[in-house]
Amino acid sequence: MSDSDDKKPLGIRGGSGKASNVRQSFGHGRTKSVVVETKRKRVVIPTAIPQKVTENSSSASQPPGLSKRPSGITDAEMTRRLTALKAAKEQEGVDKARREKEEKTRAEERAIRLAENTEKEREEREREEKRKKKSEEDAQKIKDLEIAKLASVPPPGSKPLDSMDGPSAVQRPTGKLQSGAPKKLDDQEDNNKGKSKASREGDGRRSGKLTLNQVLAGTDGGRQRSMAAMKRKQERARQKMLGTVVEREKIIRDVQLPEAISVQELANRMAERVADVVKSLMTSGIMATQNEILDADTAELIIEEFGHKVVRVSDSDVEDVIDQIIDDDKDLKPRPPVITVMGHVDHGKTSLLDAIRNAKVTAGEAGGITQHIGAYQVDQAGSLLTFLDTPGHAAFTSMRARGAQVTDIVILVVAADDAVMPQTIEAINHAKAAKVPMIVAINKIDKEDANANKVRTDLLQHEVIVEKMSGDVLDVEVSAISGVGLDTLLENISLQAELLDLKANPDRAASGAVIEASLDIGRGAVATVLVKNGTLKQGDIFVAGEQYGKVRALINDKGERVKEAGPSSPVEVLGLNGTPEAGDVLNVVETEAQAREIASYRNSAAKDRRAAAGASTTLEQLMAKAKDDKTVSELPVVIKGDVQGSVEAIVQAMAKIGNSEVRVRVLHSGVGAITESDIGLAEASGAPVIGFNVRANSSARSTAQQKGIEVRYYSIIYDLVDDIKKAASGLLSAEIKETFIGYAKIKEVFKVTGVGRVAGCLVTEGIARRSSGVRLLRDNVVIHEGTLKTLKRFKDEVSDVQSGQECGMAFDAYEDIRADDVIEIFERQEIERSL
Ligand code: GDP
Repeated sequence: MSDSDDKKPLGIRGGSGKASNVRQSFGHGRTKSVVVETKRKRVVIPTAIPQKVTENSSSASQPPGLSKRPSGITDAEMTRRLTALKAAKEQEGVDKARREKEEKTRAEERAIRLAENTEKEREEREREEKRKKKSEEDAQKIKDLEIAKLASVPPPGSKPLDSMDGPSAVQRPTGKLQSGAPKKLDDQEDNNKGKSKASREGDGRRSGKLTLNQVLAGTDGGRQRSMAAMKRKQERARQKMLGTVVEREKIIRDVQLPEAISVQELANRMAERVADVVKSLMTSGIMATQNEILDADTAELIIEEFGHKVVRVSDSDVEDVIDQIIDDDKDLKPRPPVITVMGHVDHGKTSLLDAIRNAKVTAGEAGGITQHIGAYQVDQAGSLLTFLDTPGHAAFTSMRARGAQVTDIVILVVAADDAVMPQTIEAINHAKAAKVPMIVAINKIDKEDANANKVRTDLLQHEVIVEKMSGDVLDVEVSAISGVGLDTLLENISLQAELLDLKANPDRAASGAVIEASLDIGRGAVATVLVKNGTLKQGDIFVAGEQYGKVRALINDKGERVKEAGPSSPVEVLGLNGTPEAGDVLNVVETEAQAREIASYRNSAAKDRRAAAGASTTLEQLMAKAKDDKTVSELPVVIKGDVQGSVEAIVQAMAKIGNSEVRVRVLHSGVGAITESDIGLAEASGAPVIGFNVRANSSARSTAQQKGIEVRYYSIIYDLVDDIKKAASGLLSAEIKETFIGYAKIKEVFKVTGVGRVAGCLVTEGIARRSSGVRLLRDNVVIHEGTLKTLKRFKDEVSDVQSGQECGMAFDAYEDIRADDVIEIFERQEIERSL
């Protein structure tokens, strides 16, 4: 130690003794080197003690018999120390023996456990081999099996563990004292050493010979495995076995496959892992994330790959919940007919409807307040007649187009003072197409110039043969003003209805048609529904077109609240979540969830349709554009109206405005007040907002003002259409007319500081004007077109220079001017066009 170098060692005075270094060992592996001096002459210590000291080569030892010497150790102290040392040595011996004993038992236990594991592994291997044997009769395999069988009772301790290295490593330094250790342990150690050496050296050495150990350790030779590795292997084997069981018992599922499905949903429906599905898609060359939407065909391939069954379902299946029951004859009860009035404009349709209503209201319910809800019922000699209060062919056909054929009888109004007119013919055609019987009402019979027979003969041309002309079409001469013939008309309607034998089943879930719908400020979305079949009750859950709801209240045509509405009765329905469209079919369903599902399906389907329509328009536009390379100007508009019917009429009128160069595009149309969202839409497209009988709400009004969006209000469709026409005309690209006003020839070109190149010219023709457009011609080829920067006469800037005069001209942002170039001066005139 450094102590010996730096300091003088403690020792016997005079230094006559022999000095030597002794290494002291302490517990926990600590050692210390001490200098020991021995005095030869005085040997006091018994021989046994120094022997022991040297033998042990441990413990602190001082030169013996140096009592009261400067070392400070007395004989008694020395003896005590020696005794303690002896006791410690004995104790150490006892401990060692105990440790060895424990080691031995542990080793035995380990050996037993190992043997058990080996046994298990062997059995497993045997099983595997048996399985293999069944499939392929391999002689080598059988031989292996036999060897394995031979070695079925492995000697304990033949397979020591790696962990044995721990204790042996500890023991090695004190190997000398290990003589008493059991032989088995030594054997194990040796064996272990040999094995680790062998494994270090690789498989090469083992390949030649087959040892018992190799057989026991498994197919990979005598390589030692840790317990963890063993456990892992066992777990793997167990899982493998379980895995095969799962595979064998795999549940084949019926996977419902809609038209489009996300990867995640597909995996869910198959009860497979999303990662597996993604992997399977990848192998088919489709890189998809779990949120990607797959089409049905791709999804079907994947489902089949996973071994499940495909059940294709369509989104429209949600509509299946709507009852399509065909009623039994015995359940059917007579129902009132539904009548629509049609005819040419101004022939008196509205007047006739009003006349019938007023006659009946005043006669029937004195003081009763009738309410305009789009349809009304009148009592005709004890039987009810339902009149649709929406005259016109558009309503009739648009409703029919939506699948709501509600009309049973058409009343064709023809003015007796007029004759069959284009719209009369149209009405006839519509009625015929719908296969609805007609009753001809020859109106304005009170007029002096009325000629009912002319009307009858005229109708013949259109294959309408009235009774008077020995046909089967009922005809009545009426006057909406004087009320003549009204009763006869109603009687005839009843008669016709009887012939039709109209029946419905009132005891079933209601179905009907939306006649009108609007957004009421106080009541929300309100729809007038004509019940076709069944009975609509308060509290019913229904779906109407793209909307759904729960009947909150029913109001009849007389403004009374009713609890239910039977077949052919018109009612106002409150409780919708949105405004349906006229002609939408209403169906009562069982649950709100069903209603919501159907409505959302219809909504998305309608959206798709609209998108498809939009795309086709764009395509057409593109084609037109490509054809004549003219850009089509569009006037976008947002239209809001009070009732669906008016909005539709306006939209249709808008479609008719325009020509190949300009057209009106209705960005959005709807029922209800103008809202902020309408303004937002208008702003985005730079469109005006048109309100027909509706006004903007206050927030929309302020937003419109802020953003400078034009909001126009109308109450007459013609005014609206006219204004839009005018606006569209403004969009027509104005015709541009060019007139040449003069020519000038460049005589010389000067450079003027601050101005650039200036042409000194002579105006040869007409006039040179500074504000005009100019072209630079070189050999009659236009090489530049632009404007003039300066026009100078001598030193002064002038506005124009007459023919025959000289002047200086400089082009705006153009310098390449040469002598003999010609300057053409022209003026452009824009001529606005109208549609
Ligand atoms: P619509 O366009 O078919 O609805 O026709 P209207 O009901 O608006 O009637 C057009 C015009 O004809 C109105 O001025 C009515 O007063 C008039 N009118 C309608 N019915 C009769 C009638 O029976 N006799 C007479 N003299 N005028 C009638």
